[in-house]
Amino acid sequence: MLSIKNLHVKLEEEDKQILKGVDLEIEAGKVHAIMGPNGSGKSTLSYVLSGKDGYEVTDGSAHLEGADVLDMEPEERAAAGLFLAFQYPVEIPGVGNMTFLRTAVNAQRKARGQEEMSAAEFLKVVRARAKELKIDADMLKRPVNVGFSGGEKKRNEILQMAMLEPKMCILDETDSGLDVDAMKLVAEGVNALRSEGRGFLVITHYQRLLDHIKPDVVHIMSDGRIIKTGGPELALEVENNGYADILAEVA
Ligand code: ADP
Ligand code: MG
Ligand code: MG
Repeated sequence: MLSIKNLHVKLEEEDKQILKGVDLEIEAGKVHAIMGPNGSGKSTLSYVLSGKDGYEVTDGSAHLEGADVLDMEPEERAAAGLFLAFQYPVEIPGVGNMTFLRTAVNAQRKARGQEEMSAAEFLKVVRARAKELKIDADMLKRPVNVGFSGGEKKRNEILQMAMLEPKMCILDETDSGLDVDAMKLVAEGVNALRSEGRGFLVITHYQRLLDHIKPDVVHIMSDGRIIKTGGPELALEVENNGYADILAEVA
């Protein structure tokens, strides 16, 4: 589903290399997690995959189902099936959540060569999804994320993900200080959307999130590289002993 090879990334502004050869293969139907000390480049990886400005790929590649992701505009990446949820959801005053979602869904359908959803059809689908995710219908009418609690923003993010039906979901939850309830929401959302045709990359500091999500594969990132890969037990090892042992072992 997602194939990253030898990815090297530096900052455009400074001459600072951040990713120093990331290799990652995520199969359809699998949930991979990346953990790692602060500053190791986890968020940079998700930003580069989303097409955010300010980063320069100096070597390596990233392909989604064989298509070169790094060659696409950000909206083309979304149309190709990449979904990125970020640590800090944007507030959009004056734009109703429902309108925002419908615009996003229809832009994506258009880019995929599908017909737009009618207002009535969209309403039906969004209400059904919201109900499945236990999202209050009121939240659909409010301006995007404005005055939403942390938990509501998380629910909304999961709703966006559900509506866009991505192939590959990347969630960066590293520094967001999720409380236990918000963590459970994210985990429930991911678990509800887990499916054979869909891959997940969950970036997190917290082993606890992985208690609820149960990843298939766990990677440890340090200094711009993935230094160790294992099963869920690797997250437990980090929870119990921190990163010091793993870093020492690899060194
Ligand atoms: P993580 O998500 O693992 O905590 P980041 O990807 O946020 O790591 O950061 C990796 C390194 O790159 C850090 O040393 C950080 O300070 C630096 N960095 C990332 N983006 C920028 C930026 N826009 N300007 C300056 N330094 C940056
Ligand atoms: Mg950080
Ligand atoms: Mg980060």
